[in-house]
Amino acid sequence: MLKHNLGYPRFGIKRQLKKASEKYWSGKIEQDVLFKVAKELRYEHWKIQENYGLDLIPCNDFSFYDHVLDMSFLLGVIPERYDPLWNASKNNIDLYFAMARGYQKDNLDITAMEMTKWFDTNYHYIVPEFIYNQKFEIFCTKIFDEFTEAKQNLSKEPKPVLIGPISYLLLGKEKESNFNRIDLIKNLIPIYIEILLKLKNAGAKWIQLDEPFLIFDLSEKEKKAFIYAYKEIFKQCGELNILLTTYFECIDHNISLLIDLPFKALHIDLIKSSDKLNIFLKNFKNILSLGIIDGRNIWKNNYTKSIKQIKKSIDVLGDERIMIAPNCSLMHIPFDISIENDIPIEIKENIAFAKQKLEELDDLYQIINGNNNLLEKNKKILKNKSNFIHNKLVKQRVSSIKEEDMHRKNPFNIRKKLQDKNLNLPLFPTTTIGSFPQTLELRQIRSKFKKGLLTREEYNKYIENNIIKVIKCQESIGLDVLVHGEFERNDMVEYFSEYLNGFISTKNGWVQSYGSRYVKPPIIYGDVFRTQNITVNWSKFASSNTNKPMKGMLTGPITMLQWSFVRDDQPRSITAQQIALAIRDEVEALEKAGIKIIQIDEPAIREGLPLNKKDWNNYLSWAIKAFKISSCGVKDETQIHTHMCYSEFNDIIDHIVNMDVDVITIETSRSQMKLLKAFKKFKYPNGIGPGVYDIHSTRIPSREEIFSLIKELRLYLPIENIWINPDCGLKTRKWNETIQSLKNMVEAAKLARISII
Ligand code: GLN
Ligand code: ZN
Repeated sequence: MLKHNLGYPRFGIKRQLKKASEKYWSGKIEQDVLFKVAKELRYEHWKIQENYGLDLIPCNDFSFYDHVLDMSFLLGVIPERYDPLWNASKNNIDLYFAMARGYQKDNLDITAMEMTKWFDTNYHYIVPEFIYNQKFEIFCTKIFDEFTEAKQNLSKEPKPVLIGPISYLLLGKEKESNFNRIDLIKNLIPIYIEILLKLKNAGAKWIQLDEPFLIFDLSEKEKKAFIYAYKEIFKQCGELNILLTTYFECIDHNISLLIDLPFKALHIDLIKSSDKLNIFLKNFKNILSLGIIDGRNIWKNNYTKSIKQIKKSIDVLGDERIMIAPNCSLMHIPFDISIENDIPIEIKENIAFAKQKLEELDDLYQIINGNNNLLEKNKKILKNKSNFIHNKLVKQRVSSIKEEDMHRKNPFNIRKKLQDKNLNLPLFPTTTIGSFPQTLELRQIRSKFKKGLLTREEYNKYIENNIIKVIKCQESIGLDVLVHGEFERNDMVEYFSEYLNGFISTKNGWVQSYGSRYVKPPIIYGDVFRTQNITVNWSKFASSNTNKPMKGMLTGPITMLQWSFVRDDQPRSITAQQIALAIRDEVEALEKAGIKIIQIDEPAIREGLPLNKKDWNNYLSWAIKAFKISSCGVKDETQIHTHMCYSEFNDIIDHIVNMDVDVITIETSRSQMKLLKAFKKFKYPNGIGPGVYDIHSTRIPSREEIFSLIKELRLYLPIENIWINPDCGLKTRKWNETIQSLKNMVEAAKLARISII
């Protein structure tokens, strides 16, 4: 029974790669320094894997930015607009970074390639761009160099990792309309074969080809391309051991594609499809790789359960035909829990980050070979967990949620009248999404306070001064509904998680989101509840400093859930309801404190959609339910807002309507037309503020351009329902840009009031 791994996190436990790349980008270090850092990281990560006794160790899973971009670079899929950057050296790291980040220098202004979500993870990859009759070539030697490097440094077998040809094509986009990218398979396969043979000549025995697209229903054309591709590969690279890997969902519906092809090994995700194991045991003729350790979540593996599955598989196929591994690359979880000193031991010993997952793999191997102590130890630890994760009151409260808790007392039109009276706002009311620019000074103050270098009084004073400043600023610009600026928050999820029981946050638990951007998701380990007010004092303070309405500002239950590591011992829907009840209490506390408008941000609702469309309705119905639990405890007079950060509403708009918020503000500016199209078909019934300018850009929109947008909105939405706001929080903008843009926005709204009515 071989042990192997699909991929390891790349950037280093001290975020070395981030620091080095950012220095390189800003010209502070030379290329060779960056390469040295990368080489050290690869070495360190290989050695960790070697120490845990893996038989096959992945290489080429390292990436300077993104592994899909690496494939494009390997295959020479370089869009034409980068032509001016080419120089003699083909391993041009600057060209590579330009594709990822764009290039604005030397009178050139070349846009970056598009980025999108990697399946249902929080990782974003760079989308390959294909043209008609796209040509491929071996453009870069990274994969060969890394293989040789691994071979030199490891006593175990390095296993080069590549995205398989079908998934690589499907991950991309046609940049011209006259072809289907899957037809490029004929041009692509000879190059894959060339790569594989080159690796074989360099001494590779095993190759990992990732084909995650097998989790989807493939079209007939795609199926044909799959069979063609792999028949050709096997014809010419027969002696290589090809491990075909799939992950994130089950692939039993595509099994007919696989059984007749001579893959040496097939890897399946048993976390997502443990009940499908029999199908594979029955059908697969070679080696089956069991993805038995969860690479998407951070909980300790249940050895008893895993051993049962491994033994069953060995019984059917024999020891020689079983491999064990995590279900997917470990890049979606942090490096090492052992360095987190502030986490209580009983929680900590129940958590496994990447390094610990490898240890678990080794443990499972040893248990199969007779080491029962490890099994007993695991049972004890897991049992211990149930002592501290449960809270009876929380469970009782969830089970006694009533239908009426999820509905406002009256429908929108009645509420609107009461709210209009309560708030006395003009037509086209203007507001912002919540955050205002966060300066370096502010971030430093927050971190000083966290480290205990500042007293609470000093810190509060600093934040209060900022709140007063931002209120004056909003008043002088003439905004109608004000915000307090969110200066006390580092991150909209982490901030709330620090106040809620059942959550913990880590100091170093970083996971790559894209390029050099990493996130640090909190961990939901137990029943969630709230024992203290979170935002009430700040909102009250802010509100007492102005006569204008002040919006309370909260993060919604689905976003809290989506951007955290969640419990694996209860359905996400239940955890969502627990968080929702905690937020509901905060909403009610804000209302009691006199806050008349409360915004509950839910930027992550859409990205929580399951991979399989058939699961969408179920997810959306519990997600919306959770949102309504958090938002429906208020009086009709209190106005509930929500905010969302995307504009692909068409396929979920019914559910968004069901949220029954009084006002929704949404990101639109990058694709105003897409959003408007959704409204053309569907009349959104409640208040709505489609962002009138793009906060992701440094550009200042003119009064005229915003005015013409408002005129257009008027065609699709009832005049009394339209709000005027930027399309997201202003946290990442500069102060001067912010003020200028908001002034133009307010002027545009004023113009609209007198000229459109
Ligand atoms: N209220 C948050 C802010 O303004 C919303 C952030 C978001 O949409 N991601 O920053
Ligand atoms: Zn947003």
